[in-house]
Amino acid sequence: MAEGKLIVTRERIAHDLSAIGLQQGDVVFFHSSLKSLGWVEGGPDAVIGAFLDVVGADGLVVVPTLTFTFAEHARAHAFDPKETPSRVGAIADRLWRRPNAHRSAHPTHCVAAIGRRAAELVEGHERTSTFGKDGPYGRYVAWGAKILFLGVTNRSNTTLHAVEDWLDMPYLQTDQALVKGPEGRTRIVEVTKSPIGDRDFYSKGSKVERLLERSGIIRRGKVGAADSLWMPSQEMVDVVVKGIYQEPTLLLCDDEGCAFCSKYRQPTIDHIRNNRPQI
Ligand SMILES: [Zn+2]
Repeated sequence: MAEGKLIVTRERIAHDLSAIGLQQGDVVFFHSSLKSLGWVEGGPDAVIGAFLDVVGADGLVVVPTLTFTFAEHARAHAFDPKETPSRVGAIADRLWRRPNAHRSAHPTHCVAAIGRRAAELVEGHERTSTFGKDGPYGRYVAWGAKILFLGVTNRSNTTLHAVEDWLDMPYLQTDQALVKGPEGRTRIVEVTKSPIGDRDFYSKGSKVERLLERSGIIRRGKVGAADSLWMPSQEMVDVVVKGIYQEPTLLLCDDEGCAFCSKYRQPTIDHIRNNRPQI
């Protein structure tokens, strides 16, 4: 135990999650940093247990379990939803391994879920674009999920990529990933509308973060020792889409020295102005 760290129990986390507005029956998609919470008695399982305690049997707890099994990383292991670690924190990496969890089969941007409709949430992700509306990212938004951040910020906001997908942004790209087939052999599959390259919101104090702050939809509080926040996903999507209509390059950076964002700045403006894509 690290000296001076707050000792946090499952009961405390459940209490704090309720206090910031998580409720029974909720669908919640959460991003997290275990160490930000303090010293958690029981580790990742205690955090997951706390979420399940609060949302109850009718709720649904979802996490990103991103793997980065892109084919270009020569030493990447081929993706297998039953084996490949999640690279986005200890809590998410624990959640997909629990016996009652369902994990989607998209090789790079899979999610895992426990609760009512978990199987339905993850179904068919390997057949959609990375953040397709007909896959998990579209479903949890359609089901009114709360997007919650424990000790992390909008820099981790994967759902912003879903908005890019639904608006068919020209800077999303087809890439290749390695997948382990049923026979155990590695094969290469295409992943479409992949979120390659830079984004403004990967930096602190980004344009979209300031927009979301101004919109008034963010609720904040402490969970254990972690500065935490959440937003209703549908309202977040509405705010961001309106923001992009106003400023098409909202999610790209304004740094002239950034080759990626510079290349796609004008095509993005043209796409939004000329096509007015609807989500
Ligand atoms: Zn950039």
